[in-house]
Amino acid sequence: MSEFKNTVLEDFKDVWVFCEQRQGVLMPTDFELISEGRKLADELGVRLCGLLLGDKVEGLARELAGYGADEIIVCDHPLLKDYTTDAYAKVICDMVVERKPEALLVGATNIGRDLAPRCAARLHTGLCADCTHLDVEMGIYKDFLREASTLPEEKIAGMGSAIVLGKPHDVSRDLKMTRPAFGGHLMASIICPRFRPCMATVRPGVMKKAPFDQKRADNVVISKPEVKLAASDIRTQVLETVKEARKLVDLTGAEVIVSVGRGISKDIEGGIKLAEELADVLHGVVGSSRACVDAGWITADHQVGQTGKTVRPRIYIALGISGAIQHKAGMSDSECIIAVNKNENAPIFEIADYGIVGDLFKVTPLLIEEFKKAIANK
Ligand SMILES: Cc1cc2nc3c(=O)[nH]c(=O)nc-3n(C[C@H](O)[C@H](O)[C@H](O)COP(=O)(O)OP(=O)(O)OC[C@H]3O[C@@H](n4cnc5c(N)ncnc54)[C@H](O)[C@@H]3O)c2cc1C
Repeated sequence: MSEFKNTVLEDFKDVWVFCEQRQGVLMPTDFELISEGRKLADELGVRLCGLLLGDKVEGLARELAGYGADEIIVCDHPLLKDYTTDAYAKVICDMVVERKPEALLVGATNIGRDLAPRCAARLHTGLCADCTHLDVEMGIYKDFLREASTLPEEKIAGMGSAIVLGKPHDVSRDLKMTRPAFGGHLMASIICPRFRPCMATVRPGVMKKAPFDQKRADNVVISKPEVKLAASDIRTQVLETVKEARKLVDLTGAEVIVSVGRGISKDIEGGIKLAEELADVLHGVVGSSRACVDAGWITADHQVGQTGKTVRPRIYIALGISGAIQHKAGMSDSECIIAVNKNENAPIFEIADYGIVGDLFKVTPLLIEEFKKAIANK
């Protein structure tokens, strides 16, 4: 890697997305990141490439391309069948050194969180982890700040350069990577002005998936570079893949989520049962605030929020959840938010489309009845 010079920024172009597959199945983050990558590539005026690693995975390339990629680089090798940090990091770094992308996006899945820092360290570049928003073009970024920040207009209007190593640096081509900081109390936009590629991991469920475009899928360039990989490059061996027997709740794919918070504390089992009943009626799933997970009332796969899942269901019902900033960070993009809380000043009401001030143990059975009636009369 020592010969890799990544400070000559002009040598780097194209946006890449690492496309994760597990046992031949693409992850939902792949489609979200390809869609977002398309937007960034258009802003930069470059191509968007998906980087797909695995064994006999070429068949997945067109599906990925349909969401916006110009090219899918398929790195096929028997030693890439199961994920190992060593093998995947080596192949990705080899590809980056050879083809020099200017940005590399990775899903913040368990694998992405393991892989991206390893690659960034090896490539000697910066990585912004757990991003919730990405921009390149200054005008678009400024509009985002006008909408999402409390910065005064004169500060926003004057943006355009940063001081890097004592010299002014034009940030117009830098990827602006925004993520929560200080426990979610503020959002920080981070740039990587000196090195390429700019690397970001993006939380699943944050970026919107574009509609599938068959024309793009048909016209994509599929390239299959030579993969240089030997068993001696890999220090770990996958002996067996054991799937967790318990079915985890699919929060990110759910259309309806009924979440419980510490408000269920006076009857934990009863509160969760009510949420399950309401979720059943609406064909939804049960979510939770972190308070319930930390207390051991419900398992971590149910947690919504900054350190849980980011969700955008059609309906989000919050039962006994105060609406802390870290919880809102994971659900405020829901299409319709219904909150039940006995405190009329609870912050959740600031973002709720419908707010019900009352005891969830009294209100939820009424909601179940009313929804049942409404569905039966449809
Ligand atoms: C770094 C960091 C990351 C975090 N990540 C997350 C995260 O991912 N997700 C998350 O949720 N939190 C997260 N938190 C925790 C967050 O700050 C809050 O502590 C948590 O969300 C509070 O959960 P809650 O709303 O259930 O509990 P509380 O804040 O205690 O609220 C309980 C609410 O229930 C209401 N209530 C009580 N009884 C009833 C009743 N009978 N009927 C109706 N309403 C009732 C109360 O009025 C109150 O508003 C994080 C914190 C930090 C510091």
